[in-house]
Amino acid sequence: MSNISARARQDLSARAMLFDEECPEVVVPSMSQDRLRFWSWMLSAYGEAQGVSRTLEVSSKEKLHEYRYTGEVVLPFSGGLESTYLAAAFPHVHRISLDYLPNFDGVLEYEVFDYWMESYMEGGVPALLAGLGYSTVIMGNEWRFGLGDLPEANAEFCARWFEYSGQTVIMPLLGMTKDEIAVALARLRPDWYSRIISCIKTKDRREIDCWCGRCAKCQVAWHTAQAIGRPLPFSLRKKGIGDDYWSERYREHLSDTYDYEID
Ligand SMILES: [Zn+2]
Repeated sequence: MSNISARARQDLSARAMLFDEECPEVVVPSMSQDRLRFWSWMLSAYGEAQGVSRTLEVSSKEKLHEYRYTGEVVLPFSGGLESTYLAAAFPHVHRISLDYLPNFDGVLEYEVFDYWMESYMEGGVPALLAGLGYSTVIMGNEWRFGLGDLPEANAEFCARWFEYSGQTVIMPLLGMTKDEIAVALARLRPDWYSRIISCIKTKDRREIDCWCGRCAKCQVAWHTAQAIGRPLPFSLRKKGIGDDYWSERYREHLSDTYDYEID
């Protein structure tokens, strides 16, 4: 984390405590009451989602640093459906990836920010990018029927985060479901549609450049592609990795919308 700013370090380490089951309190640097409201909200939002109660502790030794913004806009790009659609919809916005994405090399220009991404990092991306100076971030969170979302994937987080950090986070896809985004991408950039990969197993994309066909993400992507009539270039195998945590509501949605039944 050597090139992460001091403030991003503070925000990311406080946030990491929300994922530590052994840790009953979240310690934050000293800051104004206005800013503390952000952390009170984070604790209650995560507490509700996880069924855990934590207390907020303010350190007397450490003061909150400030972000230094450059005025630039950024699109975090993962090579999955949502960020690929945003890259197509906002072609002139700078793209940054936390990982190496061979599928798009030579097709799509993006900057790789080499950083080990822990599993709980998804909602920490705005802080990470604020730490690199980006004033505005376009995030690809989609409408998931209220299931499986981080407490940070909503408009309330965007408003509270802006008040706390000064960074604007925009989530243009909150009103769209995955299948709607897949249809939109297949229309806008059919050449990019077949390149997307969001498989859990391809976390280290330097070694694996494919869909495993077994994990929850592969299941959702494959069925979505079949339902909208634009298959993706991989075969589904027997389910084996992860939980398809939103399958029931999403299955009903695919069935109602496309007359598509999942066995
Ligand atoms: Zn997979």
